[in-house]
Amino acid sequence: MTSPTNENLFVSLWEQVPDTSAPFLHLPDGTTMTYNALSERANQFASALQAAGVKAGDRVAAQIDKSAEGLCLYFGCLKAGGVFLPLNTAYTDSEVAYFLGDAEPTVLICQPSRVTGLEKIAEQSGVAKTFVLAADGTGTITDAADASSTNFEAVFRTGDDLAGILYTSGTTGRSKGAMISGTNLLSNALALKEAWRFTSSDILLHALPVFHTHGLFVATHTLFVAGGSMIFHPTFNAQAVLSALPQATTMMGVPTFYTRLLNEPTFDKERVKAMRLFVSGSAPLSAQTHKDFEARTGHAIIERYGMTETNMNTSNPYDGERRAGTVGKPLPGIEVRVADPETGTPLPTGETGAIELRGPNVFQGYWRMPEKTKAEFRDDGFFISGDLGRYDEDGYLSIVGRDKDLIISGGFNVYPAEVESVLDALDGVAESAVIGIPHPDFGEGVTALVVPRNGANLQADAIQSAAAQKLAKFKVPKIVLIVDELPRNSMGKVTKKALRETHQDLFA
Ligand code: AMP
Repeated sequence: MTSPTNENLFVSLWEQVPDTSAPFLHLPDGTTMTYNALSERANQFASALQAAGVKAGDRVAAQIDKSAEGLCLYFGCLKAGGVFLPLNTAYTDSEVAYFLGDAEPTVLICQPSRVTGLEKIAEQSGVAKTFVLAADGTGTITDAADASSTNFEAVFRTGDDLAGILYTSGTTGRSKGAMISGTNLLSNALALKEAWRFTSSDILLHALPVFHTHGLFVATHTLFVAGGSMIFHPTFNAQAVLSALPQATTMMGVPTFYTRLLNEPTFDKERVKAMRLFVSGSAPLSAQTHKDFEARTGHAIIERYGMTETNMNTSNPYDGERRAGTVGKPLPGIEVRVADPETGTPLPTGETGAIELRGPNVFQGYWRMPEKTKAEFRDDGFFISGDLGRYDEDGYLSIVGRDKDLIISGGFNVYPAEVESVLDALDGVAESAVIGIPHPDFGEGVTALVVPRNGANLQADAIQSAAAQKLAKFKVPKIVLIVDELPRNSMGKVTKKALRETHQDLFA
């Protein structure tokens, strides 16, 4: 009898790499780490985690800065059969206490500055061992790895076993742990490599955080299965990105990366001569930014759509029109339907409804929330994403917002994205956010926050009358607030829940 294949995600990713002596990471200090070096270091982390008690299926929580050692720790966790649980460094002690209590990890790795508070919390949650890892790669976990063997045989896992639990950003309600399997991640990495034509010659400029699906999975795994390399920046810094761009062939970013680059006068065609591809996602890229970017660089950004629970679902095409303001078409093997939110029945082209997803990319459910999981899947296996969207005649999907952000004013549905695109196109407007605020007559009153472009002198009533030329009366903002900036989370998403709270009494 032949023994079953080890589908440990690290092993599956590794099998794809054409040449493991090739570089994987280009680091800020000018050094390079090859795939082989990464694997050996991951072996040491795997041994250290195992010695701390991590067994197959155990959670390993990490609230750490982005570093090469941190990335090796992630791969070491996979090799040890652990389930990686990355946490945003912005989370406070009490937020981390919730995640530790919910996920019950065996090990926590945290920043040195946080250990005093977190060690106690970890103990109370039954965490066996707390380590630290600093931004410069030093710490007790590194010491433990240094003292461990560079040989380690990856622990047996099936493709359906969990590789990660990622807590959703929780813009609505309590944060939920999305359980992601090895197969979810491998299938998506292979789909994206094909869709975006990644090869071993590619060098990706990586400035995204790695506590989120975008930087950890989309960028890292796609490059890994292609055998390419990454210029690894600890954070997004426009000057650092500008100087690294001539050495890169590709970049993945959130829309704010691209708007910030456009603010730099030296960001031009010459600087991106070696680039073949820019990808944007995690938040809407305005059609205006897409056009400005193309005019400046000659590159049409590929906008794609995904989420923690599903990895990537759709993308604009590599060959063919990259349509501004849309997220393109379903990736191969992934079904993306726009359905009646009540029944799940697919809607005709052009109608707006709930975006529902099915495929090997779709997660295994919410950690210890069987009821919540059940409520978000249809009987035929489609996951109800919580996003609202619409297909056009050519099969391009547009996102019109989260269903929780849908505004119902006087009984009519108002899709924020539609109003925002009208406002964004007005002279002197840099960007806008449209929200619903409780209103005594209408239920919700459409409210717009508008950011002026380069100090333009905007007037609220002029904006309202310009919007009224384009929009039905019930969609026109009843109040327009001119603001300096919009609140955003670390992935560049406007935090509409916070905006609604701040302005909840506007119509009272
Ligand atoms: P997260 O789980 O943090 O990756 O957030 C996923 C959510 O981000 C999706 O459900 C969408 O609401 C939003 N999102 C991701 N990509 C896009 C995009 N290209 N355009 C608009 N919204 C997006």
